[in-house]
Amino acid sequence: MYKAIFIDIDDTLLDYVPCCREAYDTAMPDHPEHFQLFFDIAGRLFSEAKHGKHTIAEVMDLYPKEFMASIGYPQESVAPFTRAFRAAWGKTHTLVPEAKEMLDALKSKGYRLFAASNSFAHLQRSRLEQAGILHYFEDTYISMDIGYDKPDVRFFEEALRRSGLQPSEVLMIGDSMTTDILGAKAAGIDALFFDRRGNASLLELIKEL
Ligand SMILES: [Mg+2]
Repeated sequence: MYKAIFIDIDDTLLDYVPCCREAYDTAMPDHPEHFQLFFDIAGRLFSEAKHGKHTIAEVMDLYPKEFMASIGYPQESVAPFTRAFRAAWGKTHTLVPEAKEMLDALKSKGYRLFAASNSFAHLQRSRLEQAGILHYFEDTYISMDIGYDKPDVRFFEEALRRSGLQPSEVLMIGDSMTTDILGAKAAGIDALFFDRRGNASLLELIKEL
């Protein structure tokens, strides 16, 4: 009954923690010991964004700033660090186990595939390309380009408008209960929750489709 699948990127297709670690180590090679702090600050701010406290665009500037301040680096060092981190992030492409196999399976069942992610459009497209999976997608819907962040219903409405699909024709797959599942459902789109922490299998998740 579905014609298309919207698929989240981080922690659904690409493995967020190793990607984050790799980009951090490139941007801050002399201080691997601060990674956890960096990761925790980013995590808290992204979590606050899910609940509407900040936009994703704001968080992208806030977390390097807060991190650099917390390790005592001067204000002037924030911009170079942010640039280096983003450049490195755009090259990270560690796949979640079975991600490619799931895309192959969905494609062979005839579904139209679209990526749906909260981030910078050019960086996410670059990561999908380097992971060798960009070609599976008819289009990529990325919040900075769409103009709204998941779970805002307007993110999903704009993705539907661009794809020409009805809510009932789409299934959303993602690892965030807030942004992916509740967001999609608010827009009338069915959703499948990928429980990354529970080590769920992507192929198992889609076997009924
Ligand atoms: Mg995700």
